[in-house]
Amino acid sequence: MTETATAPTAPLRARAEIDLGALRANVRALRALAPDAALMAVVKSDAYGHGAVPCARAAVQAGAAWLGTATPEEALALRAAGLPGRVMCWLWTPGGPWQEAIEADIDVSVSGMWALDEVTDAARRAGRHARVQLKADTGLGRNGCQPGEDWAELVGAALRAEADGLIRITGLWSHFACADEPGHPSIALQLTRFREMLAYAEGRGVRPEVRHIANSPATLTLPEAHFDLVRTGIALYGISPSPEIGAPADFGLRPAMTLSAAVALVKHVPGGHGVSYGHHYVTPGETTLGLVPVGYADGIPRHASGTGPVLVGGKWRTVAGRVAMDQFVVDLGGDEPAAGTEAVLFGPGDRGEPTAEDWAQAAGTIAYEIVTRIGTRVPRVYVNEEQSG
Ligand SMILES: *Cc1c(COP(=O)(O)O)cnc(C)c1O
Repeated sequence: MTETATAPTAPLRARAEIDLGALRANVRALRALAPDAALMAVVKSDAYGHGAVPCARAAVQAGAAWLGTATPEEALALRAAGLPGRVMCWLWTPGGPWQEAIEADIDVSVSGMWALDEVTDAARRAGRHARVQLKADTGLGRNGCQPGEDWAELVGAALRAEADGLIRITGLWSHFACADEPGHPSIALQLTRFREMLAYAEGRGVRPEVRHIANSPATLTLPEAHFDLVRTGIALYGISPSPEIGAPADFGLRPAMTLSAAVALVKHVPGGHGVSYGHHYVTPGETTLGLVPVGYADGIPRHASGTGPVLVGGKWRTVAGRVAMDQFVVDLGGDEPAAGTEAVLFGPGDRGEPTAEDWAQAAGTIAYEIVTRIGTRVPRVYVNEEQSG
């Protein structure tokens, strides 16, 4: 279980500070960018590492009408924590907790006949209808129902189940493959196919409450994709889906997570001293080394060995040698900050610290992976929990 702390009294080895005021402001900025659509706060995977329940609460306070998760377990956990409003989850496997989801008034996604069969059986057992959203594969090639015969079969069977009072078809939806690459030809093709699949279903008599396809990149760059609802994940946490689209500030977004650690040791070493496993870094001359007590078990990517940036004592330093399981070292170039000095791995960037995007580039990945993988051993410390603006 992820540790959380609201009022840390003891100094912490490491902390991921989550600025809920920034998150609420991000919700408002995103709603202003998609004024005609409702907003779904995607809080799957523990809100991309930020903590599902506090982030979901803050998002709802700021005007998110929907919460979205991948798994039904994640959705049920939100309800168990008392979160109101519409909740949707989309990653089902056979034998999943359909009845629990129905009883918790959760919208479930159905991409194929096996799932429709399971949800209608569960609705019979529950004695009430299920809220079902039919997912179309408009070109992502992942989950979702293929257009053509498959879609016709699924829509037909769903309409019969609706007529029998077992389900209510609350949504028709899809997901983009390349929305983070504006102008990619697949975007227009997916939109065209989505409109065709909507027209088919609506022509057969489906009356969805919401039609939706936009993730964060489409919410930021593609107004014609907003439809009735936008599903924003990464942008909610103040991170740009990709640097090509722009920086967070270009959209009025601010990163919510700041990851820092207390320097555990500073020491003088001679030149020619190997540093960390494998000795991939050797001190070029007499210098000081700082020990940063977080490692790959905390989600610091080992791929950022030799490249990851850290702000210590007002200066950017670079991971020297390998990131180990629990710690890594930086070359402080002779500086002697006291043990306990804060090392900021990433944050919004306005105190001169690196951002999650900088770590993504250092590790050859995307910022989504950097924040989502911050481990459960790092306490989340919430600030600006009270809604003051
Ligand atoms: C994760 C996810 C989202 C959110 O994507 P972002 O790019 O983080 O906004 C939206 N829809 C689905 C189906 C997802 O799985």
